Amino acid sequence: MSASELVALVSCDLGAIVRGRSLPSAELGDRLASGVGWVPANHSLTPLGSLAEESPFGSTGDLRLLPDIDTRVRVRGDGEAGALQLLLCDIVETDGRPWACCPRQFLREALAELRGEFGLRVVSSFEHEFQLLREEPPALPFSLEAQRRAEPFATRVMAALSEAGAEPERFFAEFAPHQYEIPVSAAEGLAGADRSVVVREVVREVARQHGLHASFVPLLDPAGPGNGVHIHIALLDTAGRPALYDAGQPAHMSQLGMSFAAGVLQHAPALSALTAPSPVSAPRLLPHHWSAGAVCLADRNREALLRIPPLVELGASELAGQLRLEYRGADASANPYLALGAIVRAGLEGVRAGLPAPPILERDPGELNEDERARFGVGALPTSLANALHALAQDETVRGWLDPVLYDAYVGIKHAELQATAQIELGEACRRYAAIY
Ligand code: GLU
Ligand code: MG
Repeated sequence: MSASELVALVSCDLGAIVRGRSLPSAELGDRLASGVGWVPANHSLTPLGSLAEESPFGSTGDLRLLPDIDTRVRVRGDGEAGALQLLLCDIVETDGRPWACCPRQFLREALAELRGEFGLRVVSSFEHEFQLLREEPPALPFSLEAQRRAEPFATRVMAALSEAGAEPERFFAEFAPHQYEIPVSAAEGLAGADRSVVVREVVREVARQHGLHASFVPLLDPAGPGNGVHIHIALLDTAGRPALYDAGQPAHMSQLGMSFAAGVLQHAPALSALTAPSPVSAPRLLPHHWSAGAVCLADRNREALLRIPPLVELGASELAGQLRLEYRGADASANPYLALGAIVRAGLEGVRAGLPAPPILERDPGELNEDERARFGVGALPTSLANALHALAQDETVRGWLDPVLYDAYVGIKHAELQATAQIELGEACRRYAAIY
C-alpha cells in the first residue's frame, strides 16, 4: 500500500448514493479526529444528479465527514486503476455534535432506544441481489452455467468482500437475466448497515475492474423480477441470548418477536417510503414477483413483507440462533441506515405497545378474497412512490422519527425524482435507474 494511495471518506446519502472526499492515505492519521469538510446542501442532491428544488438548505453551513476507523475497506487495484480505499463516516457539526440529518446517527439512536428500553441488541444482514448489465443472452436461472459466466468476477468479488471484512457466505445466480446474489453474515448494530454499503460498493468496484457494470436497480425489466434487499433481523437480549426464539410458540417466534413484527406491519406503508423509495421500487413489489406482494407475516413464504425463514434442523445447527425476521420490502435505492433504523423503531413501537401476534399466513396472499384479507390482516403496499410518500406524511409516528430538516430534505429529493420521471414510461425509468444504482 503506497502512501499516495487515495482513501475516500464517504457517507451514504439520502438517495443511497455514496459521496465524499478522498485524501492521500498518509494523511489519514491526522484526519481521524477532525475528518474532512462537507456541506449541508449535499443532502439535497438527488440520485439523478440535480439539486432538489425543495430543500431546507441554502448556500451556508459547514459540516465534517468524520471517519469510523472500524469501517476501513481496501479493494486492491487492477492494472491502471488504483486500489479503492474507503472509510464510512458520520456527518457531524464542526464542533463534533451529531448532525440532525446524519443517516448513521438516525440508526444509532434507534438502536440505543431499543437497547435502553428493552435491553435488546439488533443483529442484521442485508441480502442483496444485483444484475450485470450485459448484452449477451443470459444463461438459465440458478444454473452453474450462469455462475461460470460470471467468472472471473465471481471469485474475485468474493475475495474482495472477504478482504473488506464483509464475510460473504455464498455466490449464486438468481432468476432474472445476469442476476446474482451474495448473502453476507449478520453483524451487530451499525455494522449490519455499514456492511450493506460495503457490499454494494465492493461489488460495483470489482465489476468495474472487469469492464462490467453491476446494477442494484430495484427493477430492470418491468415484466421480470427485481433486485431486492432483504433485511434479516435478529434480536439478542442483554446476555446475548436470541430473543426471538420460543420453542413453544407458532413458528418458534416469541411473543416479543411477534409484537416487533406487528409494529413493522402496522407502519408498513409509511416505512416503504424509506425502504423502497425510488420511482421504480413499487413496481417490484407487485404480487407474484416473489418480492413482497402483501403486508403480512408468513412462515417461509416469499410473497410476504415479513417472512420467517426456515430453521434448519440438519447437522448440528442450533435453532434459537437461526431465527430471524426477514423484511423483504427494501431495495438498494434505500439508505440502509434509514431503512434499518425505521424498521427497528417500528418494531420497538410494537414491543412497547405489547401488540398481539399477527396471524401467520400460510397461503399466497395474492389469492385471498377481501374477507380473507381482512381476517388474516393482509394489507397492500403503496403502489407508487407518490403513495408511499403520502403514507409517510400521514403516519405521524414514522414521520416523527425524522428530524423535520431531515424529513424536508428527504421529501424534497423524492419529489424531484417523481417530477423527473413523471413523463417517461416505466421501462425507460428502469433503464435510467439501472445506470444510477
Ligand atoms: N428477486 C426477488 C425480490 O425482488 C427475491 C427473490 C428471492 O430471493 O426470494 O425481492
Ligand atoms: Mg434472492
